[in-house]
Amino acid sequence: MKKLALHWQIIIGLVLGIIWALLSSTLGWTNFTINWIAPFGTIFINLLKLIAVPLVLFSVISGVANIGDPASLGRMGGKTLLAYLLTTVLAVSLGLALVNVIKPGALVDEDSRIDNRISYEIWANDQGYEIKDGINYLQEPEFFERAQRITDLSKGELKDAAVNEKMQTANQTKDAGPLQPLVDIVPQNFFRSLTDNGLMLQIIFFALFFGISLLFIPNEKSKPVTDVVDSIMEVFLKMVDLVMRAAPFFVFALLAGVVSKMAGDDIGKVYEIFKGLSWYSLTVFAGLMIMIFVVYPLFLKIFVKQIPYKGFFKAMSPAQTLAFSTSSSAATLPVTMECVEENLGVDKKVTSFVLPIGATVNMDGTCLYQAVAVVFLAQLHMIDLTLGQQLTIVLTATLASIGSAAVPSAGLVMLIIVLDSVGLNPAWIAIIFPVDRILDMFRTVVNVTGDATVSSIIAKGEGMLHYKEHENPSETFDLD
Ligand code: ASP
Repeated sequence: MKKLALHWQIIIGLVLGIIWALLSSTLGWTNFTINWIAPFGTIFINLLKLIAVPLVLFSVISGVANIGDPASLGRMGGKTLLAYLLTTVLAVSLGLALVNVIKPGALVDEDSRIDNRISYEIWANDQGYEIKDGINYLQEPEFFERAQRITDLSKGELKDAAVNEKMQTANQTKDAGPLQPLVDIVPQNFFRSLTDNGLMLQIIFFALFFGISLLFIPNEKSKPVTDVVDSIMEVFLKMVDLVMRAAPFFVFALLAGVVSKMAGDDIGKVYEIFKGLSWYSLTVFAGLMIMIFVVYPLFLKIFVKQIPYKGFFKAMSPAQTLAFSTSSSAATLPVTMECVEENLGVDKKVTSFVLPIGATVNMDGTCLYQAVAVVFLAQLHMIDLTLGQQLTIVLTATLASIGSAAVPSAGLVMLIIVLDSVGLNPAWIAIIFPVDRILDMFRTVVNVTGDATVSSIIAKGEGMLHYKEHENPSETFDLD
């Protein structure tokens, strides 16, 4: 009997996980699910990250060392960064175009938008910001009573603890100087970088530095090191194979946990969340789908040619389903690397450094979502953003997506900074918070697909793409 392809097994695990969570919430078993099933999901993410951190280290070293000369490394590095930047700017622009055309925030009823606008005016006054656009309701006598009621209300407002925590993280980032992100890339103690998952860029920096230095020492001295590094890489890839064997079960546990935490013991909450999946979520979703099904395939068609439309998705589906389940490009990285190498036929010399860098800095889905979210929130509060403000969004969303860690809801934290850059209230993230996890799953799929597309393009340009259509690419992960 033919074995079911791995990505189908993962999808089945995913669907069963959701069904289980909904059932357990109806039957009052949520605690059981959270205590006895969800931990396996955490174990899965831990396992993937456990592999990802040293994998990045060794793969970047081996990639650089195998390229052979610093000049071609520089050329490839330059092209990679340029391609990442271009796809990111394209994604933000697509997000902005969609949100300006669909206007999801303006589809909400007028009355609550006026309330929102008044609360924005109160906040802006508090901050000492001047309000330039539209009617200033606070000054209009007929709105006086309403304004008073909203002022009283906003005084008594209790902020969500989870949202508060995100605000604090964002404030720390914001308070640092403009060059702090650059300073943060250079570690003073490499072992500290290894102990913390958030420090991927430091690991990449060290690995590039190490790999480049290796290129400058005589072959007889460097060869033993490169040989060891290459063998260690093999071991890690085998570890990925082993973990992936159990992926369908782990994904079941992961989704059962995530949905159970959303639903609690009241399945009505899930309904509420879905109700909240309004035009805003649909706009984000539409943008993300256009990226996956139109923009990237178009890039592949123009720049790569030999990878067919269906073949690309067949090749990438294990990584895409995993990105969806884990909401983390970093955790998905080991599998992305395997899919791109084995299924798309991209040479290791390319994947080994293009993908780890991409997982950390190239987040097309995240920046698209940030652009939509900021403009939506402005529309919801009857604020017209000027062209200048929208351009600021392009810039800050690009930088924010580069700065976002490749972990769940990192994009939401960085959104606070984007809101701040155009003078809007960062606390508004609370409005979109309930649907964020679901959107996070989809945007992570885009982030991962974008990295794979760019590495295929770079490989093609360097003559390092050897795509062969597999009958069943998921067999990559078979041990026998
Ligand atoms: N979860 C996303 C990722 O890891 C980042 C984000 O948009 O929150 O790629």
